Amino acid sequence: MKTAPLQSARVRNEALEILSRFGVPKTAFATTGIPASSPITGELITYVRGTSPEEADAAIGDAAKAFNLWRTTPAPRRGEFVRFIAEELRAAKADLGRLVTLETGKIASEGLGEVQEMIDICDFAVGLSRQLYGKTIATERINHRMMETWHPLGVCGVISAFNFPVAVWSWNAALAFVCGDPVVWKPSEKASLTALATQAIVERAVHRFTDAPANLSVVLIGGKDIGEVLVDDSRVAVVSATGSTAMGRAVGPRLAARFARAILELGGNNAAIVARSADLDLAVRAIAFAAMGTAGQRCTTLRRLFVHENVYDRLVPRLSKVYASIKVGDPRDPGTLVGPLIDRRAFESMQWALEEAREAGGIVRGGERIEGMGGANAYYVRPALCEMREHAGPVLRETFAPILYLLRYSKLDEAVRLHNAVGAGLTSSIFTLDMREAETFISAIGSDCGIANVNIGPSGAEIGGAFGGEKETGCEREAGSDSWKAYMRRATNTINFGTQLPLAQGVQFDVQD
Ligand code: NAD
Repeated sequence: MKTAPLQSARVRNEALEILSRFGVPKTAFATTGIPASSPITGELITYVRGTSPEEADAAIGDAAKAFNLWRTTPAPRRGEFVRFIAEELRAAKADLGRLVTLETGKIASEGLGEVQEMIDICDFAVGLSRQLYGKTIATERINHRMMETWHPLGVCGVISAFNFPVAVWSWNAALAFVCGDPVVWKPSEKASLTALATQAIVERAVHRFTDAPANLSVVLIGGKDIGEVLVDDSRVAVVSATGSTAMGRAVGPRLAARFARAILELGGNNAAIVARSADLDLAVRAIAFAAMGTAGQRCTTLRRLFVHENVYDRLVPRLSKVYASIKVGDPRDPGTLVGPLIDRRAFESMQWALEEAREAGGIVRGGERIEGMGGANAYYVRPALCEMREHAGPVLRETFAPILYLLRYSKLDEAVRLHNAVGAGLTSSIFTLDMREAETFISAIGSDCGIANVNIGPSGAEIGGAFGGEKETGCEREAGSDSWKAYMRRATNTINFGTQLPLAQGVQFDVQD
């Protein structure tokens, strides 16, 4: 396999230059601590100073103080603050997008797309800041009025994964800020640099917004141990945690034990069905992006494909051709569509899954490492296509790498049954021109996922729709729709403007005085 030379010094220097342009303070870095590396070359960019548990405790206390002030700032004014963040993000888009590419290996358009998503959710939140509507409810009592009001909830903790290092923060933070909640963010330990840069951008907005309380936005740098501090602190009213299902299994019960509100956005094992009537030209393009984009490292990545027996022998050769021709390489190069895996562990878990697929009688094409590309510590792989005999073994779990398992089906109800027969329930698609099949797939007896699409792939959501999944993918929704309610508390108010005291349900309770 021909390999492209990648210049390691350029990655490190460029990342440090961007951080310096953002004004990230030198005190954020250290000579030991949490390594910040680039998957493009596998090289160390710098060490980042970790937050100690004591510092995390103090920072949460500071955010709790910020809540006392922020909750009384009128919501449209809070929206103005988020508008400033959006403006700063627009100005910083090129640099932050590039840093996403350098730190996580996303191709250039995806790095920029991630920042665009941050801008989009900020714009959404600005509009929302004038629409935190409560209902007025018909009451059975004369001369009474009953209504629901929404109040700020408290400190919002955000724990994020490496693969959307900054967008996930923004989905939560933009809504939390307009809802009146300060945000304490524990980013992935694999993506500390983009978090520090984002915090510097927010500080620019804070500087311009004269009445923002101190510590409205706080970042805690570290791994699981610092995440646990955030999860266990009773001053943190809601925790939005994005990551693997294993992480959610640890975090969920801890939040439940203290009755905290949980937004859990966990792993996916997403599937699509290619039906007999599918537009195969469209399906091939959609499958290619959904299965290979972001090097298979999206929670929404397409991992299982059920293909109708009548089209299987036409679709699979076309997919094989696309897989063989896709350009894997330096994510900074304009022609590259698939960048590196995040690290060695990701590569090893991919190889392990492929081995299991072979043992199960699967035919595996691709999946090998491109030796030499990026250096000894960089992991570039050819995306893998696996024709499987059975829906079993590695097919049933999420392997965070570009592996697509192919299965033949003959009856739609059988395909839907297998589609739903996994732990995760994030996103799904059907490719069909048959209205009955399309409607069945998105109906109550169809896909059991939080997202179900027709004639587009399962990946690449936009912020207007509520995002999240069912079953082992967790609970609640981020972004879009009415997700803001998770960041506020609801109070029901009943007001008596009469002189009588009628009780609900006709209860009589007459006392003498
Ligand atoms: P991960 O689970 O290893 O880590 C995610 C975050 O959780 C990190 O910040 C980590 O430090 C923290 N963490 C881990 N254990 C913790 C604990 N016990 N207490 C507190 N914090 C803890 O995930 P990753 O490898 O960074 O990301 C990939 C995974 O994330 C995949 O499974 C992917 O599907 C999932 N993901 C889901 C969504 C979604 O919206 N559903 C979005 C992106 C990624």
